[in-house]
Amino acid sequence: MSSLSSEADKRRTFAIISHPDAGKTTLTEKLLLFGGAIQLAGTVKGRKASRHATSDWMALEQQRGISITSSVMQFPYKDRIVNLLDTPGHEDFSEDTYRTLTAVDSALMVIDCAKGVEQRTVKLMEVCRLRDTPIMTFINKLDREGREPVDLLDEIESVLGIECSPVTWPIGMGRSLKGVYHLLQDRIYLYTQAGRQKASQIEVIDGLDSAAATQVLGSEADAFREEIELVRGACPELNIADYLAAKQSPVFFGSAISNFGVRELLDEFVEHAPPPRNRESEQRVVETHEDKLTGFVFKIQANMDPGHRDRIAFMRICSGEFQKGMKVLHVRSGKEIKIPDAITFMAADRQHTEHAYAGDIIGIHNHGTINIGDSFSQGEDIKFAGIPSFAPEIFRRAVLKDPLRLKALQKGLAQLCEEGATQLFKPMRNNDLILGAVGPLQFDVVAHRLADEYKVTCLFETISVATARWVECDDDKMLAEFQRKAHDNLALDHGDNLVYIAPTRVNLSLTEERWPDIRFRATREY
Ligand code: GDP
Repeated sequence: MSSLSSEADKRRTFAIISHPDAGKTTLTEKLLLFGGAIQLAGTVKGRKASRHATSDWMALEQQRGISITSSVMQFPYKDRIVNLLDTPGHEDFSEDTYRTLTAVDSALMVIDCAKGVEQRTVKLMEVCRLRDTPIMTFINKLDREGREPVDLLDEIESVLGIECSPVTWPIGMGRSLKGVYHLLQDRIYLYTQAGRQKASQIEVIDGLDSAAATQVLGSEADAFREEIELVRGACPELNIADYLAAKQSPVFFGSAISNFGVRELLDEFVEHAPPPRNRESEQRVVETHEDKLTGFVFKIQANMDPGHRDRIAFMRICSGEFQKGMKVLHVRSGKEIKIPDAITFMAADRQHTEHAYAGDIIGIHNHGTINIGDSFSQGEDIKFAGIPSFAPEIFRRAVLKDPLRLKALQKGLAQLCEEGATQLFKPMRNNDLILGAVGPLQFDVVAHRLADEYKVTCLFETISVATARWVECDDDKMLAEFQRKAHDNLALDHGDNLVYIAPTRVNLSLTEERWPDIRFRATREY
């Protein structure tokens, strides 16, 4: 095997998904701790805090107690390179999460053992299903009283529609938590409350039937052995092929905050999670092991470091090797561009990278020429498909305090909309600037950033727009006719695509009925 292939095969690129508060941030931090990327727990939060201190709009994030930005963290573990893509938990930022999920090869789902499957988890699972993304499950907060493990697995199976195969099983819960039993290894991992900060070694007992196990389990030994018999009988065995086909989820129990069950999860993860998968483009399937570089941009983020004031395009490499200073084709513009300097994201730091391989995410400095969804190659006309853009659900009109700042407002809105979280619409009939978003918090973020980064004070006023649809028609004459008749409800989006802005849902249905040959699309691919 060439060294290029073996580098790609080492990569494990994944995202953690969960309902807010299930423990995604805590688990991320603990994975970094066990991965040796950080020395002490608390660093992920600490990193967030220092960013707040220096960046004003991040203060908003802190005020709201939510994590707006998502980032990439790379660390080596055993003989693998793990790329962990963080996603915002709050549903107003779900658009970002959906795009990030197009850039991973697998996902890790965190569930709170007291709450079970929550509403955001359901939605995220639907998104994973679009690409048959393999999913491992971590049932968290075992140190607290939770629901019966069997109930939790039943709920995942029935609500999320995926078969569960437990890899570990809890021995007690909450105050009576003794540890977890590893069904594949026939080992007990004992729980201690010590060592929340450090990745300390956990005491292990070999064999559920051993004398040591009997001693630890005490009067519950026989009952627990029976329980495991039942579990083995009732639950499907771990089947890696089914996991990789996204039909079965291996399930782990633990307590992220107590560092418990995390190493067992990480060990199985690097062993079984898929390496970078071949990826469909509009032209052909691109194989991971091809020599030439291909990749696509799934995220653009501004002002990650206020000292730099830059915008970074996040590119997922699909094949080949990135080398510092190389020239690549920016497929949409047809131009060759040189990438003198790309960034990889090693845990909490940015580092300049010399090489990166399929599965890796690199950050490219962007001065407005790169858009979300853009593909890169070494000369070939390749366009990766499948980065969704959703019609926004809430619309507001930008109202400027100082009319002389109109240019700055237009520039600011256009640049912020390039990041994908909000969309800009320019109506045909007037000069309004209408902003659409999936969640109301987005307007606060945009207003805050306009003030901070563009020195523009602006309000967002509610308007009577219920929904928007991208308009397409194969018949140019009919489209022209539609544009004339529906002029007052038409707008152009950021990419100058035609959009129908419906004042009410009823208006949209009537218009759809009246124009059966016109397609009104609720999603669009970048
Ligand atoms: P996120 O919103 O999913 O990122 O969740 P966080 O990681 O911020 O955790 C939410 C809350 O749950 C925080 O107060 C954590 O300290 C707490 N938490 C996380 N993991 C555990 C755990 O294993 N046990 C307990 N008892 N609390 C936890």
